[in-house]
Amino acid sequence: MRVLLLVFTVLLYIGKASELFNPHFKPHCNCIDKVSLGRSTWKLLHDIVNSVEREKTPYFVSMMDNLGKIYPCEECRLHISEYIQEHPTEMTHEWLCTFHNAVNQRLNKKKFKC
Ligand SMILES: Cc1cc2nc3c(=O)[nH]c(=O)nc-3n(C[C@H](O)[C@H](O)[C@H](O)COP(=O)(O)OP(=O)(O)OC[C@H]3O[C@@H](n4cnc5c(N)ncnc54)[C@H](O)[C@@H]3O)c2cc1C
Repeated sequence: MRVLLLVFTVLLYIGKASELFNPHFKPHCNCIDKVSLGRSTWKLLHDIVNSVEREKTPYFVSMMDNLGKIYPCEECRLHISEYIQEHPTEMTHEWLCTFHNAVNQRLNKKKFKC
């Protein structure tokens, strides 16, 4: 039994180790749930804009720039960076609401009254 366990562990280790040397190995699965990720990100963004003092605007601007680079959904990332290039980030309810509406529109969702 112990020998079997040892063989199994060694095989498992070899399998994992060989993955690391495979140039095509992607350590992350492609399993992002765009809907729940989107909802929680919008919640975070709206909460920041509604409750953080305006002096922190530069951090919000950087955050949006960085979201356009690392948001874990390629299609969304592309749209974020396109949008902020055309509509420079403002840490205001109007800016964020309008941005959220632009995404709503693209996804055929209802527009929100800003
Ligand atoms: C920056 C960003 C870019 C995204 N880009 C894409 C994309 O390219 N493709 C894709 O498939 N998904 C994208 N998403 C996800 C998408 O926007 C939704 O979050 C997801 O589809 C879930 O939608 P939902 O109907 O639950 O409501 P959500 O759009 O997630 O909104 C959550 C809640 O916010 C409220 N709300 C809606 N509109 C507004 C508004 N304008 N102002 C204030 N509050 C509002 C409503 O109460 C709503 O229930 C993106 C998300 C983010 C944060």
